[in-house]
Amino acid sequence: MSEERSLNFLEEIIEDDLQSGRSVSIHTRFPPEPNGYLHIGHAKSICLNFGLADKYGGKTNLRFDDTNPVTEETEYVDSIKEDVQWLGFQWEEEHYASDYFGQLYDFAVLLIQKGLAYVDDLSAEEIAATKGTPTEPGKASPFRNRSIEENLQLFTEMKEGKYNDGEKVLRAKIDLASPNMHMRDPIMYRIKKTAHHRTGNQWCIYPMYDFAHGQSDSIEKISHSICTLEFEVHRPLYSWYIEQLGIFPSRQFEFARLNLTYTVMSKRKLLQLVQEGLVDGWDDPRMPTLSGLRRRGYTPASIRHFCDRIGVQRRENIIDVGLLEFCIREDLNKSALRRMAVLDPIKLVITNYPAGQTEVLRSENNPELEDHGGYRDLHFSRELWIEAEDFMETPAKKWFRLAPGAQVRLKNAYIVTCTGFTKDSSGKVIEVQCEYIPESKSGQDTSGINVKGTMHWISTDKCINAEVRLYDRLFQVENPSQEEGDYKTYMNPQSLEIIASAKLEHSLGGAKLGEHFQFIRKGYFTLDSKHSRPDKLVFNRTVTLKDTWSKESKKGA
Ligand code: ATP
Ligand code: MG
Repeated sequence: MSEERSLNFLEEIIEDDLQSGRSVSIHTRFPPEPNGYLHIGHAKSICLNFGLADKYGGKTNLRFDDTNPVTEETEYVDSIKEDVQWLGFQWEEEHYASDYFGQLYDFAVLLIQKGLAYVDDLSAEEIAATKGTPTEPGKASPFRNRSIEENLQLFTEMKEGKYNDGEKVLRAKIDLASPNMHMRDPIMYRIKKTAHHRTGNQWCIYPMYDFAHGQSDSIEKISHSICTLEFEVHRPLYSWYIEQLGIFPSRQFEFARLNLTYTVMSKRKLLQLVQEGLVDGWDDPRMPTLSGLRRRGYTPASIRHFCDRIGVQRRENIIDVGLLEFCIREDLNKSALRRMAVLDPIKLVITNYPAGQTEVLRSENNPELEDHGGYRDLHFSRELWIEAEDFMETPAKKWFRLAPGAQVRLKNAYIVTCTGFTKDSSGKVIEVQCEYIPESKSGQDTSGINVKGTMHWISTDKCINAEVRLYDRLFQVENPSQEEGDYKTYMNPQSLEIIASAKLEHSLGGAKLGEHFQFIRKGYFTLDSKHSRPDKLVFNRTVTLKDTWSKESKKGA
């Protein structure tokens, strides 16, 4: 957004640091763990890190925080790179925490040499059990006072694979009485005889997040290391390692993570939905992942605007998904091509229009654009498809669409008067008859008739059939993660509606992947990148035209 706004708290810190000379230049990083696909929460972090560096003439690195060999995969690395670039950002340098395993090992040795780290034979469970409580100090391990020589020897043996998983760990020697539990001799290294997606079997000891993250920041000379609030309690440890090692003084700052209504945002939960087949992969259009939003038809600009609008806070909150939908509507209203599509077709027969006669009508592509986005041809004939819901046998009050005797305008074509209708044996209306008024042609109307309703339609003579997928919220409750029991029980069973054979105007036969369309009165649509084929088009609804959903839910409340 271009409007003026006051500085957020991170911008204030950075301007202070630049002014005081504490920072010479601004260097940020985006540090995903490659254990899943990126979601809209990550987009907030990406926009923030790249945005700050950009604003202050700095640089941003992409760093894969790949210190846990068990959950990480190359597929995730590739998808993360694709998503960051799709959002519109290009990193300065690409790094992997695993590239620093050698340096991190040397840092650990240095701390042992300074008497600030020791090898402990207690198991992770025993360590946790002797850590004390916030009001009660922890108990020292019997191995806490090993000599520097012994520690160096044991740590080397750990690295050489002499011990099994869990047999020994390396711990920092800090303060067992610290009110901050993270400072009570935290674990720095654990043994894990598992192949790593990049280093293979080169290592069997792996650094913990806390020992890897700050040091990696420091190696890359990151000036402002921005993370989410749950790491606030880790900050003293982050600073302690850097100080004791005497390396580049990176500093950590925290902001509130993005939460969004009617979805879950943790990669672990999203992975479960994928693995249990509850969604159509990580890029299911109902998922809050960037690949899902892309497949659904969200544009990178709409997501950047969304991140801009929600801003950066220090307090946890949950953002209404309606705001995200507002941002994509705002973007597509300006760019999407207007087209006609009938999702639930019944026939409309114009009894006074000669059989066999056809017309080509010129229709604008987008009235919001100066040149109307150019024009396309619409085919008109005696028999049309219209939406079943646009006819009512006994009209309600203020009904401006078709009903016996009523007049409406067929968009871009003529005014028609309804003269009759036909039902099938079950009583369902299957055909409506009408007469058209030849002098009422759009653009050259001399009929003098004014009608209130305008309807979309498709010529049965020249149209294409396509599958159309309509989406709703993936969950039925605002914050599924906060509800009692398994969050999956709150999934919305009606989140996907597949219309097998919608009728689309002929020009949509040439639709291309990545193009955005407004189906008049029905919403914004795009081709599905996974299932659409030239001989069987599949369209996804990105978003409806109006926020009818939130209005209805308020009415119900
Ligand atoms: P998740 O809990 O979804 O698995 P994570 O924090 O473990 O997320 P990382 O890959 O470690 O995921 O995150 C990379 C960066 O993105 C981190 O700096 C993290 O703080 C940030 N991030 C993750 N989720 C959000 C969110 N919901 N809002 C804002 N930033 C986020
Ligand atoms: Mg993480």
